[in-house]
Amino acid sequence: LKSGGLLEVIEAGTGLDDIGGLDELKRWLSGRRRAFGTAARSYGLPAPKGLLIVGIPGTGKSLTAKAAAGALQLPLLRLDMGRVFGGIVGQSEANLRTVIQTTEAIAPCVLWIDEIEKGFAGSSSGGSTDGGTSSRVFGSFLSWMQEKQKPVFVVATANDVSQLPPEFLRKGRFDELFFVDLPDARERAHIWDIVIERHGRNPTDFDPVVLARASESFTGAEIEAAFIDALHTAFDNDREPTMADVGEAMGRIVPLAQLMDGKIAA
Ligand code: ATP
Repeated sequence: LKSGGLLEVIEAGTGLDDIGGLDELKRWLSGRRRAFGTAARSYGLPAPKGLLIVGIPGTGKSLTAKAAAGALQLPLLRLDMGRVFGGIVGQSEANLRTVIQTTEAIAPCVLWIDEIEKGFAGSSSGGSTDGGTSSRVFGSFLSWMQEKQKPVFVVATANDVSQLPPEFLRKGRFDELFFVDLPDARERAHIWDIVIERHGRNPTDFDPVVLARASESFTGAEIEAAFIDALHTAFDNDREPTMADVGEAMGRIVPLAQLMDGKIAA
């Protein structure tokens, strides 16, 4: 892939079944699947533009980008926002052009832009500290999003909606904006199920419903971290992991959500 390290091809192998919770998002993706096909183009439907997924870290946003590509059976390209900006004058604009040309040449494909707010924070009207470079690049990106003819489906993920330029949220840029929250008990049970199975164990040996109750305010990433920790303990003792191992592992994790609450209270 000739993109000067801006783009990375990500192996798919993930589908919507690998995501616990996020039902609305999954429903949107499976409901719109046909809109990506050639039948939809000849019918006269515009190609789907993209999704903006916002939420706290570890809730499955990146997983969703991969699952979207898997579900749509399209190649997935990840854009490293950090590499777009910088260099000599005009370099950032040239980088964006390279990204657009490369993805359009590969289209149909999914372009995943992780932590999009990092690149475009403060890019909208005024407030620019870099001689206007990021505003210009941002403007070009927005016009591309609005006018692109080639089926490049953009999945942009962001942690903080307040950091996003409001132009992103306007209709015509992304098809849909999804907020991803902490999973509720039912969703956590599903995530435990998926995580246990992903690590080669049988969910019925663990009782995901009990685990879901004990993992309140955990993200999906924290649930997985707890299970891996339990696997380590069991491995060190030459045995299979037990509910007790998982319970102890959970006790060693301080959920990010609690840390953030603490900060606000302080
Ligand atoms: P970040 O903003 O830090 O990139 P994220 O929201 O993109 O976080 P992921 O990277 O997708 O989160 O999640 C990390 C890992 O946690 C995933 O690879 C997956 O193993 C697990 N995970 C998180 N959320 C879920 C979920 N809803 N269902 C199943 N697994 C999950």
